[in-house]
This record gives sequence, C-alpha cells and structure tokens, in this order.
Amino acid sequence: MVLSVLHFRHSPKRRPCSKTWLMSIELGEEYGGTGASFFSIILAVEELAKVDPAVALVCELQNTLTNKLFTTYGTEEQKRTYLPRVSKDTLGSFCLSEAGSGSDAFSLKTRAEKKGDYYIINGSKMWISLAEDAGVFFVMANTDPSLGYRGITCFIVDRNTEGLHVGKKEDKLGIRASSTCPVTFDNVKVPESNILGQVGQGYKYAIGMLNTGRIGIAAQMLGLAQGCFDRTVPYTKERVQFGKSVFDFQGMQHQIAQVATQLEAARLLTYNAARLAETGRPAIKEASMAKYFTAEVATLTTSKCIEWMGGVGFTKNYPIEKYYRDCKIGTIYEGTSNIQLSTIAKFLAQEY
Ligand SMILES: Cc1cc2nc3c(=O)[nH]c(=O)nc-3n(C[C@H](O)[C@H](O)[C@H](O)COP(=O)(O)OP(=O)(O)OC[C@H]3O[C@@H](n4cnc5c(N)ncnc54)[C@H](O)[C@@H]3O)c2cc1C
Repeated sequence: MVLSVLHFRHSPKRRPCSKTWLMSIELGEEYGGTGASFFSIILAVEELAKVDPAVALVCELQNTLTNKLFTTYGTEEQKRTYLPRVSKDTLGSFCLSEAGSGSDAFSLKTRAEKKGDYYIINGSKMWISLAEDAGVFFVMANTDPSLGYRGITCFIVDRNTEGLHVGKKEDKLGIRASSTCPVTFDNVKVPESNILGQVGQGYKYAIGMLNTGRIGIAAQMLGLAQGCFDRTVPYTKERVQFGKSVFDFQGMQHQIAQVATQLEAARLLTYNAARLAETGRPAIKEASMAKYFTAEVATLTTSKCIEWMGGVGFTKNYPIEKYYRDCKIGTIYEGTSNIQLSTIAKFLAQEY
C-alpha cells in the first residue's frame, strides 16, 4: 500500500525510482534514497501509523528531522559521510529537550566549550526518541551562554564517541515499540567539522525542523485514528444486539458519521500543510493547526472506538486499546497542544 502510494505521488519533476526506501523517501538516489516528495513522506507515515504508530514515528523522524537536517544544513562532506548511512542502516536522534527545558526548549543547559579545533560537550538530554538504536545524534548545546538562545549550536555526534551514554529507555504509556531514552554527554570531544551549519544557529534549525516535523506528527495521528476507525466499524456491523447489527442503530450511526467527518477534516488540514511546506510556502500556522487538530481527532476517535466495541474494546484481545494509548503522545511531543495553540494565536494576533 505504502509503495503504491509513493509511486502514485512521485513528483513529476523527479525521475521514477525502481525502489522505495522508507527511511530515505526524499533523499536523492545518489545518496541511496528514493527521490520522492515531502508529501510522499506524509502519506507513508499515515499508512504506517494505521498499523503501528511507533513504526510510523521511526519513518517520520528519520525523514522529517534527520535526513532534512543533513540535506538542508550539512556540508558536502557531512552529506557524503552520513546520507548513505541514514538511507541504509543508521537511525538519527534529535537531542533538544532536557529535564529542565521542555516547552521552553531553548533554556537548555548542555554546554559545548571550544578548545582549539574541537569542542567538549557536557550535559544531559531527556526524552530522546530512537536513542536506543540511533547511530548518530544531533545535539543542541550552547557554545556561548552569555548570548542566551543565540549561543545554541547543533553538533553531529556519532554514537560510539567516548563519553556519550544512552540511558535506560522510558516505560511509556504508548508508542512502546519506539525507544525514548535519556542521553548524557560527559566530556564528549567533537571536532569543529561536526558542527551542523553555523555556530549559534542551532535554535533556528530546531524551529525550522520542528515546523515541518509537526506535519509528520499530524500524519501519524491521522493514520492512527483512521487505522483504529477502520478496525472498529466492521465490528459494529457484525455485532448483533436486539436482533440487528449495532451499526444499524441511529444513535451509533450519528456518532460514527461525526467521527468520519472529523477524520476527513483532519486529513485536509494535514495535506494542506504538507502541500504548502512542499512548495516552500509559509506553513507554520497550518502545521500547528494540523498537529493540534489531528491529536484531538485521534483522541476522540480512539475513545469512541473503544465505546463502540463495548467490553472487548477494553481488552488487549483487540488493538483498539493500543491506539487509545498511542494517541496521547500527539498532544505532547514536537510541541504540546498548548504550544501549538500559542503559535496559532501569534499569527492571529498579527492578522487581526
Ligand atoms: C515519547 C516522547 C518522545 C520525545 N522525543 C523527543 C526527541 O526525540 N527529542 C527531543 O528533544 N525531545 C523529545 N521529547 C520531549 C518533548 O518534546 C517534550 O516532552 C515536550 O516539548 C514538552 O516538554 P515537557 O515534557 O518538559 O513539558 P512542560 O514543558 O513542562 O509542560 C507541562 C505542561 O505545561 C504546559 N505549558 C508549558 N509552557 C506553556 C506555555 N508557555 N503556555 C501554555 N502552557 C504551557 C504544557 O502544554 C504542558 O501541558 C519527547 C517526549 C516524549 C514524551
């Protein structure tokens, strides 16, 4: 399904590719990628999330953060070194959050001190997705705290670098098939050539990546909600009470129709944000709207699906309770729902 979607959506400007790699959808074929469009990433994430939102997250982060950071800000040498690896066998992790800095991400305390032609990184990161398996880490560290967030610099750090420790993975409510770990940096020595982009620009790169990443999370929530809905509605048609299928009660039909409409609205918001981002048009407000709304719709859908299944929906015999647990993260990572609403409100304040 994903493969056919990707081929169908292949950008006409790009050469068709015989193979579709889910970890390098947008990367050029010279780096071992597929050369497909940003919209294709969104469709792939949506399709994967219908089955398992944690697997979809791996695809989402690799394509919208890791690969995009390298292609947008990497030097030719960094691209040549890392892109063939990330398209084939290496996951990337994005290390921004810390115990004391979540929503207020740029108050981070990790430091990078310059010593000649290298830097020494010290600090601790929290909640780092895929860290258990990642081979390369993007580490946001402050090179000059006197400049505040303008001192934040992004470093590329290989997993086997001395002093980098990946902690025990969190025991989470949902998306349990993807790891989330603390990562500490204890006098980690990194050559200057491993700076991504420019010194002091890390905060800009993080903002830029999270803006497009939010469209990916919207696709994850959309796919999750659709997958849950698709597995539930057939059950309501099979399940007989009072001599007819429970789907045939008007009280049920109205609820199902309402959720189907919310899902369609969530899809249109997500695709619209993806369409804008793909063509380089402003999409910050639209990305926040898509992420906020799809997380709400996923919450509504998964909750309603459990109710429509009755008792069995509350058990682990069916996957519905898993979708219900998995969806909660949509209101938290890559900016909480409150942060999305604040972003939307900032635009409204300028528009009115
Ligand atoms: C499973 C998982 C995976 C993650 N993956 C990554 C990753 O790969 N890399 C990474 O860097 N981080 C990652 N994160 C961290 C994630 O981005 C943060 O958890 C998130 O930004 C919220 O920060 P916090 O947990 O510190 O909550 P807090 O910032 O403490 O927020 C607590 C509450 O206060 C509200 N709040 C805070 N500030 C405001 C405000 N200004 N206005 C209104 N309300 C506000 C929030 O909305 C929330 O409801 C991950 C988190 C989880 C749980």
